[in-house]
Amino acid sequence: MTESIVLVINSGSSSIKFQLVHPVTGDAIGSGLVERIGEPVGRIVYRYAGGVMERELHLPDHIAGLRAAEAVIAETGPPLRERGIVAVGHRVVHGGAVFHEPTIVDDAVLKELRRLSTLAPLHNLPNVIGIEVARRLLPDVPHVAVFDTAFFHTLPDAAATYAIDAEVARTNRIRRYGFHGTSHEYVSGRAADFLGRDGADLRQIVLHLGNGASASAIRGGRAIDTSMGMTPLEGLVMGTRSGDIDPGVILYLHRNAGMKVDEIDDLLNRHSGLKGLCGENDFRSVLELVADGNPDAKLAYDVYVHRLRRYIGAYLVELGGVDAVTFTGGVGENNVDVRRDSLAGLEGLGIVIDETRNESPERVARRISSDTSAVEVLVVPTNEELAIARKAIALS
Ligand code: ADP
Repeated sequence: MTESIVLVINSGSSSIKFQLVHPVTGDAIGSGLVERIGEPVGRIVYRYAGGVMERELHLPDHIAGLRAAEAVIAETGPPLRERGIVAVGHRVVHGGAVFHEPTIVDDAVLKELRRLSTLAPLHNLPNVIGIEVARRLLPDVPHVAVFDTAFFHTLPDAAATYAIDAEVARTNRIRRYGFHGTSHEYVSGRAADFLGRDGADLRQIVLHLGNGASASAIRGGRAIDTSMGMTPLEGLVMGTRSGDIDPGVILYLHRNAGMKVDEIDDLLNRHSGLKGLCGENDFRSVLELVADGNPDAKLAYDVYVHRLRRYIGAYLVELGGVDAVTFTGGVGENNVDVRRDSLAGLEGLGIVIDETRNESPERVARRISSDTSAVEVLVVPTNEELAIARKAIALS
């Protein structure tokens, strides 16, 4: 045993992301993706100091997936059990109203997590399976569940409540929970560090723009609003998810277009957003189409930016002004256009982007606002794995 390492696992329905993280330095010793679990040909990609290892193999289930991860780790260095792993951190999407703090998983917690899967079947069930399998592989270290909803449990009732029949909402646990919390918390903390300010004194807007996308309003280090709701479907336009939509559209599709509930689910979660509007969900592909003059892609981009601006405006008012706006996630960290267009014309509100800073390709936390901007505009790379690793080690 050489050093204290945390294994971080993010188990999805047909994929498992895993990372060996040094929680103090933040170094990722190895980082992998197992995908196409349950399909005829599965795949594993593992990046480590010595390079990249890629292979295709049959992965009938998550047990096979984690065993494949264990095998590549052993091939590229000492086996998993000799890596000095002191804890396993698991990303769990939905903590419901029960779990706010990182929690050591025992049999009772696992049972409760299974129960919560009814709230988020797409996400929590694969998370639970991942935890079960990992506990068998590494039975001697604590397994810690870190919840995507946790950071948002401070939402004021007015922000968390849907205006529907209160009894129906209570019985069915319907409220706004918010997601991507680990990222919003980590990035807002890093933004405060970067500014050399105490988070307790800051009003922040964080825009996490990846395949999934969400915005949050944070006052004094506590979230007061966020764009995702009971599920990760609400809010911003995403790669394949619609974000906000008039609920009447769903009723209409069911009654008038004869669509079944599973078809509407599929439409809103997998065939909407950028993909629904222009056929591409990867932002880079959308931008290529825009550059080629494709009108559908142009509209998709415009809808994306319009929605983003609507949330920025809402949060500016909710916070009563803002000290820092921070972009993160694959799109937020890399795309110059979205950052510029979503904050364009807001000089009157004290928001001024510096074009040269915005165009810098640096991959570290940085300021992109001009020196005259009253509001700090930042780009801060997110690192959910590191945040999970630190929470896990704190409990081990
Ligand atoms: P996830 O939500 O799965 O963690 P990421 O945060 O990695 O995803 O974000 C993925 C998105 O970021 C994709 O739509 C991808 O096209 C986009 N992206 C990555 N690099 C760039 C770039 N250089 N320019 C524009 N978009 C980018």
